[in-house]
Amino acid sequence: MKRKFPLHWQILTGLIFGVIYGGGVSIFVDTTSLVEAIQEFTAHWVKPWGTIFVNSLQLIAVPLVLFSLVNGIAGLKDFTKLGSIGGRAIGFYVITTIIAVSVGLLVVNGFKPWESLTVEAGKDLISAYSNQAEKNISSAQKVKESGPLQFLIDLVPKNIVGAASMNKNMLQVITFAILFGIALISIKSDKSEPVKKFFEGVNEVVLKMVDFIMYLAPIGTFALISNVFVQNSKHFGDLIIGIGGYFISVIFALVLLALVLYPLILWVFAKVNPLQFLKSISPAQLLAFSTSSSAATLPVTMDCVKNNVGVSEEVTSFVLPLGATINMDGTSCYQAVAAVFIANVMGFDLTMMDQLTIVLTATLASIGSAAVPGAGMVMLAIVLGQLGVPMEGIGLILGVDRLLDMCRTVVNVTGDAMVSTVIAKQIGQLKIKSVVN
Ligand code: ASP
Repeated sequence: MKRKFPLHWQILTGLIFGVIYGGGVSIFVDTTSLVEAIQEFTAHWVKPWGTIFVNSLQLIAVPLVLFSLVNGIAGLKDFTKLGSIGGRAIGFYVITTIIAVSVGLLVVNGFKPWESLTVEAGKDLISAYSNQAEKNISSAQKVKESGPLQFLIDLVPKNIVGAASMNKNMLQVITFAILFGIALISIKSDKSEPVKKFFEGVNEVVLKMVDFIMYLAPIGTFALISNVFVQNSKHFGDLIIGIGGYFISVIFALVLLALVLYPLILWVFAKVNPLQFLKSISPAQLLAFSTSSSAATLPVTMDCVKNNVGVSEEVTSFVLPLGATINMDGTSCYQAVAAVFIANVMGFDLTMMDQLTIVLTATLASIGSAAVPGAGMVMLAIVLGQLGVPMEGIGLILGVDRLLDMCRTVVNVTGDAMVSTVIAKQIGQLKIKSVVN
């Protein structure tokens, strides 16, 4: 994407204006009726632009994954390579998630943010947010009722049109695309060549559509951010009455992942300059922050990783959609911090065994979380359930969850981009703009 004003500056501009507008209302307007009027105005006249932007990103996500993955596989000389890319991706994804949960546990046990919250303030928060908590709990219970092999069943769609009609079924689209791509390279070339050309052409068209959609980025980002701030202005008080410590713990743990762990892995395994890497993927990070959705950000993540970092189409088109769906380091890290915080506020003393349970369940819960706003919190209820902590406890953290969601989504997207860069380097498919030597 060549633009006079680079994409990351466009998104950043929208974001800054959004913070000025939304933050300004939160800080300077204290008349309840005026706040309500501004909230209504923002919901009716500003937010729709953000919704249009996110919808158009989601609109393009399934075609993008389908056509670029088939196109990537069609270019393979040897499809055992696909198995090797997939195996490495899953390996890296699981290991980084376990590290992320452990970082979360270390930070929260070190900071002990529950010590600054009085029992009374905790009870007030739980009752203030009990309605919202109820909704999350019932969604979590539905997830919990499914059997242990449900995730395998979920991989195989009964109907491709049905699978492609819902972005949360991205894994099913991936299954179809892999099967289609492998079949395509397995047939005679006189039959496969026209189909390959067709996929190549449509892939170009879809990429151009992403380009067009990104013209909406500044206004879309402005609308999303200002709406979050305006609608949440009353929750900022919660930060002051005691969960500021929790908020800072999550942010600190996420910063450790994004600015210490990932740069280290990039440097050691891929010899990539971390600063250059972060700059290359900054449009995707800013968009993740604005949309709170790895799925909506996927088209831009793919564009940045392929065109700015220099990862091959083959790796980009397979590893990133897979990562957007199953790899959520930010979410798993947050779930660890939140679970320990809530358990302690509610008077549970967690043993070493409980902490290990958190590692396991938060890893699985983050894999099972959909790449949409708020999904991580629904799965947090499952982690709490596993520990025997009342799920109503999520009421404690609901007020600031949207802000933390924005931050953990940035880490989720950064983790996916990092893993695809490392894999590309390992299999000789990193044509680099940001390698050090
Ligand atoms: N919003 C996150 C994502 O899309 C998931 C979550 O933690 O809620 O990556």
